[in-house]
This record gives sequence, structure tokens and C-alpha cells, in this order.
Amino acid sequence: MSRILLYLIFFGSIGGQCVAQYDCGQLGYMNHLRENQYPTYNHYMENYDRILRKFIDKNKTTREDTIFRIPVFFNVLSRNGRTVNFEKLDTMLAVLNRGFNRGDDTSIVRDIFSENIADIKIEFYRAILDINGDTIKRLRAKNSFYLYETDDLMKYDASGLSAYHPEKYLNIWICNMSKNLGYATPPIYAAHWPSAYFKPLHLQGIVLDFRTIVPEYSSDFEKYRKIIIHEAGHYLGLRHTWGDGSLVITGDSTECWRDDGIKDTPYTIAANRTCDNNKNTCIEKQGIDYPDQYENYMDYTDNRCQAMFTNEQKELMIYNLVNLRPYIYDTAYVDITIPEPASLAEQKTISLYPNPASNQVNIEVSSHYFEQKLELHLYSTDGKLVYRKSFTPYSKENVALLSISSGLYYAAILEDNRTIFRSKLIVLGP
Ligand SMILES: [Zn+2]
Repeated sequence: MSRILLYLIFFGSIGGQCVAQYDCGQLGYMNHLRENQYPTYNHYMENYDRILRKFIDKNKTTREDTIFRIPVFFNVLSRNGRTVNFEKLDTMLAVLNRGFNRGDDTSIVRDIFSENIADIKIEFYRAILDINGDTIKRLRAKNSFYLYETDDLMKYDASGLSAYHPEKYLNIWICNMSKNLGYATPPIYAAHWPSAYFKPLHLQGIVLDFRTIVPEYSSDFEKYRKIIIHEAGHYLGLRHTWGDGSLVITGDSTECWRDDGIKDTPYTIAANRTCDNNKNTCIEKQGIDYPDQYENYMDYTDNRCQAMFTNEQKELMIYNLVNLRPYIYDTAYVDITIPEPASLAEQKTISLYPNPASNQVNIEVSSHYFEQKLELHLYSTDGKLVYRKSFTPYSKENVALLSISSGLYYAAILEDNRTIFRSKLIVLGP
């Protein structure tokens, strides 16, 4: 047995210290650091201000409408006949894209936090081309009888599948895990993280258990389906909102000051499990005393009441992406192809639903203002026109999306070549 394998088995026991069955695996490792490497743990904040300042400088050159596009490469390790296909993976990416594009129902976020809700504008898409530019026709998959821990064993060919060009693709491993539902590696040198977390490139990526992805493998799927959003948050350098002090409320108020380093997520003593409007476990150091922000994707709340990242979480993720994962993304600017509607009144007479849409979308025009045929255009985030259809504005129009692969699109409705409506549209795929 190689030394690497022995090392991994040692770290595997750390993941096993997690107290609750369905936690993200980040915390077990953090507990180990706190107990064994306290100086590192205590200093994880030290480079934060420097990094944030640098981000603000850099941000001046980033346009407000920039979309960052990240290709995702899947590695599937199945056991007991569990299978995954491209269609299921695309559905999973649609969930992820909703989280990163303000696509979840943000009306469930309490008013006190509504101004903090960020539209991250990152699109994750399944890699279509391999590193040589050839079309990827088959899913990379392998049978495996391992029951993995937060031990990285899934990332070696001997015990799993090695990463596929992790500098250019976000690698996601889907496998059977014994306890945790997933974990992810932060970018190397990310602020707020102890250096012990920084793993070499070939171990970078996201690991997810089957239960988070494929509905038929878990009756609790609705509770856990957004874990992919949470893990992508870690992959881009976010910590848990409560700062990893504790999983349970201890009464020890010093736990309040363990923080995620993000100013617009309120201080919180421990992980939230419930969506409790009255819970306010810590008093803010200054300003308004906010309740715990259980709506944040980086808490442990039931996924049904998670719907937001904050503006400062966005700043840090984009900073980390641009500076610490510089080869993994490309960018698109949507307004090159779609002008803003001239009139807000026109925009309001048209609705496009449901959104996200699966195999069809409806267009409804609520006024008879428009006299000639209208045209629907769908653009992919790299600016390509992927669909167009003309229709009469007098009735509800059904548009079949069967030829559209899942992902994030921009819909424009045009009258006589003039944009009168513009909206994001998330397509879940057929
Ligand atoms: Zn986590």
C-alpha cells in the first residue's frame, strides 16, 4: 500500500468524527484542525482585508453584466447498480444554476435580508468538449464497491477516478458516501481558510453522494437537492455562515465570534437546522441586530427554505474565481446581443412561465397593444442565438423546448426587430 493511500486513510477517520449523519463533510475536518492545529485555525482571517481590497480594485474592470461560465466534468463511481446519465446530471446542474442566478424563489427570504440577495451570475455547464476539443460522447463512470468518507479516495484511479484536467474543468465526483452528503475543496490561498485545507490541484473539486442528486435514490431528495449549491460555494471559497464554531447551540457566547469573514451574513452561534424566524443566537457587534440568516445556502437548513447568497459572498466568490481559479472560466456579456426593452410598460404586459421550464414554456401577452407578430429569441450565455419562433400576440403561446439542452438562457421577445421583453430563462431539459 502506498504512502499516499495510508495518508488518506488517516484523514478518512477525521471525516468520520462528524456528529450528524447529513452534514456536509467540511466540518469534521475543521473540528480536527481546531483540536489539533489551533494556531492555523485561529489565523484563518488574517489575509481577508488584503484580499477584499484587491478584489475591489479588480472589480473595476469587471462589467456588471458579466456571466462567468464554468465547465463541469463528472466522474461517477457507482455501486449496487446505481446509475447516472447525462439527463440526470443536467437536471442537477439546473438546480445549481438556479442557486447562482437568483433563480430560486427569493420571496421566501425575509424582508430584512432582501437587499442582501445577490445574483452571482455564474453558469455551470456540462463539459461538451474534452481537452483536445473532441466531443464527449460517454459519461466517465466506473463501478466501485467503496463506501467513501471525506477522504479523497474517490480521486485516485486505484480506488476511484482521477481528476480530469482540474485546472480547466470543475470536477464533480458522484459516489456512495457512508456519512456525509458531500464536501469540496476551497481554492488554494482562499481567505478565511486554514492552509491545511489547501489541497493540490489533482484533488480539487466537489464530491457528492448519490442521495443529493438522483431523486429515486433518496426519499429526502427535496431536503438535500441544494447541497450542490452549498458545495459549489465552498469550491469558490465560502465558509459556513456560522463560522464553524459548533453544530449545536452550546450557550458559549464566544462561539458567536467565530465567523465566516462575510459582513452581511449575521453572527450565528451554530448551524441552523430549522427555518425559525425568531431565532437570533448572537447580538451583532454594531448596527442592526439581525436574526440568524437561515435562508443562506451556506447554512445547514432544510433546503426548502434556502434561497440566497449575499452580496459580499458574491464579491468573495468572484474574486476567488478570477484570481485563484483563473483558467477554469470564460465570460460572456449578454447585452451585446439583447438590448434592454425601451419601455417598462411593454415589459410588464408579457409573461414567460414556468421558469425554470422543462419541456415547454408559455408566453402570455396581457394587452392587445401589439398588432403584428412577435418573435421569441433564446440566447445561450455565450451569446449564440439557439432558438427563434414567431407567434401571434393574441393568445397564450406554447413553445416546445425539446430541442434545447438544459442550462441558462436569455429570452428576448421582439416586435419588428425591437426588443420589448427580456428575461433569464432556466431550462431543466426534457
Ligand atoms: Zn459545508
